[in-house]
Amino acid sequence: MKPSNGCSTAECTAVGEKNFRVEGLHCTGCTQKIITALREKYIGSDWQFSLATGVLEGSDLSDDVLRKDVQYIVDLYESDVFVLPMNQNEALPEEGTVRNLALEKLVKRTTRIGVGAVVLSVGLTLEALKLASSRGMDLGVSFVLLATYLYVGLPVLKRAIRNSLKGELFDENFLMAIATVGAIVLGELPEALGVMLFYELGEHFQGKAVDQSRRAIEKLLSIRPDQAHLVVGDKIWDVPSEQLAVEDELLVRPGERIPTDAVLISELAYVDTSSMTGESKPVRLTKGELVLGGYINQQQTIYCRVEKPFQESTASRLIQLVQQAADKKAKPEQFMTKFARWYTPAVLLLSLLTALIPPILLGESFSEWSYRALIFLVISCPCALVISIPLSYFGAIGAASKMGVLVKGGNYLEALADLKSIYFDKTGTLTEGRFQVNQVITTPLTSRDEVMKWATLAEQNSNHPIAIAIRKAAEPLNLQVDMAFEMTETAGEGISINKPGCIVFVGKGPFVERSLNSEHIASYVEVADQIINTEGAATSTIVHVSKNGAYYGALILNDRLKASSAETVAKLYDLNIEVAILSGDRSETVGALASQLNIDQFFGDLKPKDKLVVVEKALERNSKLGKGGKIAFVGDGINDAPVIARADVGVAMGGIGSEAAIEAADIVLMRDEPIALINAIALAKRTRGIVYQNIFMALSVKIAFMGLGLVGISGMWEAIFADVGVALLAVFNAMRLIPSEKS
Ligand code: ADP
Ligand code: MG
Repeated sequence: MKPSNGCSTAECTAVGEKNFRVEGLHCTGCTQKIITALREKYIGSDWQFSLATGVLEGSDLSDDVLRKDVQYIVDLYESDVFVLPMNQNEALPEEGTVRNLALEKLVKRTTRIGVGAVVLSVGLTLEALKLASSRGMDLGVSFVLLATYLYVGLPVLKRAIRNSLKGELFDENFLMAIATVGAIVLGELPEALGVMLFYELGEHFQGKAVDQSRRAIEKLLSIRPDQAHLVVGDKIWDVPSEQLAVEDELLVRPGERIPTDAVLISELAYVDTSSMTGESKPVRLTKGELVLGGYINQQQTIYCRVEKPFQESTASRLIQLVQQAADKKAKPEQFMTKFARWYTPAVLLLSLLTALIPPILLGESFSEWSYRALIFLVISCPCALVISIPLSYFGAIGAASKMGVLVKGGNYLEALADLKSIYFDKTGTLTEGRFQVNQVITTPLTSRDEVMKWATLAEQNSNHPIAIAIRKAAEPLNLQVDMAFEMTETAGEGISINKPGCIVFVGKGPFVERSLNSEHIASYVEVADQIINTEGAATSTIVHVSKNGAYYGALILNDRLKASSAETVAKLYDLNIEVAILSGDRSETVGALASQLNIDQFFGDLKPKDKLVVVEKALERNSKLGKGGKIAFVGDGINDAPVIARADVGVAMGGIGSEAAIEAADIVLMRDEPIALINAIALAKRTRGIVYQNIFMALSVKIAFMGLGLVGISGMWEAIFADVGVALLAVFNAMRLIPSEKS
């Protein structure tokens, strides 16, 4: 158990951690400095801060780190930023103080902005009046303006001095400090105050926007219930969900969330799965079925048995995934980080040249060109743009999770917007993967019960959808099946049992055919021919059965297309994306299904390895062609996991899908319906649009105003508005991607 309850304050603070929540840190530049400092202090360690979640994560640390040590380092670079423990249940001794400090910070900033705004408008009015009578500014007004400038700009000036003393010259604090001090030297006091004021205002709104997005996402992800009702004998105890163990019996009342993944003991339950799948229709579950932690129980009180501890529950994993996702950087984001590194020094150099060259070479006015150089500096701050990009991807990942699509990184959204072809697995991906045994075919020497018996015996321990169907079909037959057999499952082919005196093969034709003695091949061929001529057999999956080298017969199984498969395929073609099916099932069945869905490319009879080969060939062809879109694979089974991992974008079914497939996937469809992909693609394109809009808008406005400033058309005021305005526009534009908290 965590030292959450019952430890004294001193003990609690002494507990080290590797991850921390950091509040009030919104600037990419300072984050980078803090991370560098942490790396230097903890040699060999690596640190990551997610702007989107506010989580600071240390890795490769030999030991846990004390929160106050991290706070100490953060304080060196940023004031009013709070390092908090990750685990929110853990008592934080100064929690109250932290809250107060945060509030204090807000009050301070608002006062600064308010006072600055009032003084600036009064100052400007006075100046305007006096300019009319063309006199210089009154000494008193200048004094008040200067004092207000210092008051409003103090945090920026302090940071600028502190960072330059540490050799960190080129950050936005430094730019602002030089620009404003320069303006003061040139006698442009209102401009200096204006720059500081609007810079603060911009920072304030940015911080608010980032916080708001974080909260929106956190709310989306608040699917983990903290409390569980544990049933012990005839008593019910309320315990923290973290403490549940496998096999514990739970009671869940109507309206409550299921605490962790569990198996239903009650006969029937209706659950709302919307927080996990985006689907709001209640789902009916019966005894023995899995209820996931995070589902909401709807009608009556139900009982269930814990299947997975809280930390390993689907909901916990989902949250971890989404949080980690925010930090996988998409391409434009990487570009911006690199860009900002050379951009600021370049601007600094340019402005220096602007200030020096025309006066020296052409004998122009030194103060005029210094003023123009300062305009450069004011415009150049790239912080907002740098923030708006991760915010876009994070918002989009949140939006996707709301529609039941788990995207494990911004880079996959980027790839999704660029999709060229999609390969689908068949069973469980385009079809429901819920087979029904429709017909049992025997030979003259065998009986229906015999065929079923050996098939059931072999399929006893398999999780393959075919195995589940066969066991279900065998239930009413009351066959006596010996359980104690060892079986070998050959993925994509079938199952065999090998015990002296009892060798059974169940699976695809060629797989079973190989096990037959030569005199039995004829009867296999006869049955296979008979099946080909059976009405509707083309779309069926056939499973053959042999025992001790003798052919026993076959089962004809049918699966249904998923509700949204046809629509998905049609829409993919509309988007000009190529579609193909890859399946281990026999080619006839795959072909019949492909033609039902109007898919012209299909590959049947594939071993799991072959699926990989097909996709790898496509990837290779693509890379030979140079840049030509991305390739996705969508699957559900363990046998799909390698292909999912290999494709540019690997997609897994979250419900029916195997753990391995979900683990390997870049994108998980929680509701198992392929149509979710179409929505995800649309979202990915929208995200990319917004990111590009922001980059384009910010850069072009900045360049335009730098040019206008250079030729003397626009002044400091225009520069300020251009800079702050663009910053806010970029952030607000990015926020459009974050789903609203209601609905
Ligand atoms: P898909 O690629 O369509 O998801 P699989 O690779 O899982 O299908 O299986 C391919 C084929 O192999 C199935 O259609 C079936 O004929 C056979 N097969 C695989 N596993 C089993 C099993 N457990 N029992 C019987 N047949 C099986
Ligand atoms: Mg499959």
